[in-house]
Amino acid sequence: MKWDNLNYDELKNKCHSHEIERSINWRDQWGNWEASFGDLPYDFPFLDNLRLLEEGKKRSVWPNDAPFAICLTHDIDSITSSNHPKIALNNLSKKKYLKTGSSKLMLQYSILKQQIKKTFVTEKTDQFWQFEKWIEVEQKHGFKSTFFSFIRPSNEALSEFDCDYFPDDITRFRGIEMTGIDLIKEIDKTGCEIGLHGSYNSFNNIKILKSQKDRLEQIVGKEVVSSRQHYLHYDINYTPNVHKEVGLKIDSTLGFNKSIGFRAGTCFPYQILNEKYEATGVWQIPQIIMDLSLFSNNGLELNLDLAIERCIRTMDQVEKVGGCLTLNFHPEHIALPHYFALYSNILEEAKHRNAFNGSTADFYNLSKGA
Ligand SMILES: [Zn+2]
Repeated sequence: MKWDNLNYDELKNKCHSHEIERSINWRDQWGNWEASFGDLPYDFPFLDNLRLLEEGKKRSVWPNDAPFAICLTHDIDSITSSNHPKIALNNLSKKKYLKTGSSKLMLQYSILKQQIKKTFVTEKTDQFWQFEKWIEVEQKHGFKSTFFSFIRPSNEALSEFDCDYFPDDITRFRGIEMTGIDLIKEIDKTGCEIGLHGSYNSFNNIKILKSQKDRLEQIVGKEVVSSRQHYLHYDINYTPNVHKEVGLKIDSTLGFNKSIGFRAGTCFPYQILNEKYEATGVWQIPQIIMDLSLFSNNGLELNLDLAIERCIRTMDQVEKVGGCLTLNFHPEHIALPHYFALYSNILEEAKHRNAFNGSTADFYNLSKGA
């Protein structure tokens, strides 16, 4: 491993400033840093393990002496499986449909056909319309979560990777038909936190992210302090400053798309440091496990049994150092039973082990005073 002979404080500076991501100028297909790019043991909270080794015992940092914590989060990437007519029109103008070359014509034609079918075949029921199930299983264990809400940017700022829905698309919550805007308000009323799911191109653009934060605050009628960037699209050289400038206090982007693990070697909330190891004032609660990373063919391609085993092993590691296990499960994956089965399983185990739980804002409030 790089940095083998450092003490805890030296290693902490390198990890909290994400020095390796600043020094290796290589990114994946979505412009992101991935675990395979760095020679670090990302499967382990290696920074926390070093502190444990140096101090001899884990620190008790959670209320009621809880042995570790669990932070539950959801990125709202879809609110319906069929598309708004405006989306179809918008997609027609997207570059991917305007590419010339006969080899791409058949592919474009088939995508367009699916798009039109999805747009005009309106369903009376939709498997995505089960947002309440996530909240119900959390409440059953006395937990709550943070829902990161996507606010559609202007067409000029939109990326082909962005979520394909408008805020006035129709969805359902607890069986009642409503718009995406009302869905956010209803989730807010349950006691869950509403955070911002910054659009793909907002990672280095204060103006784009600020307009989304302003709109979300207008919807919920209060300050929004937490965020996660869509597609985990984040650049350590720009994004912390964008978050600071728009007034976000805590972000939970820094995990991986293709695997699970500890991107900064830690599972504790921490302040991002700049390249001179100075505090930026922006906190990170690192994403440890994302649903897609476990199951997708762009990720680890596990089945349910293997995913449960892997997540419990990760919980063991977090509990050993007394950190926080941050999960990211997408609400639309309620349509895939193994995703929800895994989520329920992790929650049950965390409850059994007396984990402390809070929203990302709660973790910010706890950490800034520590
Ligand atoms: Zn997303």
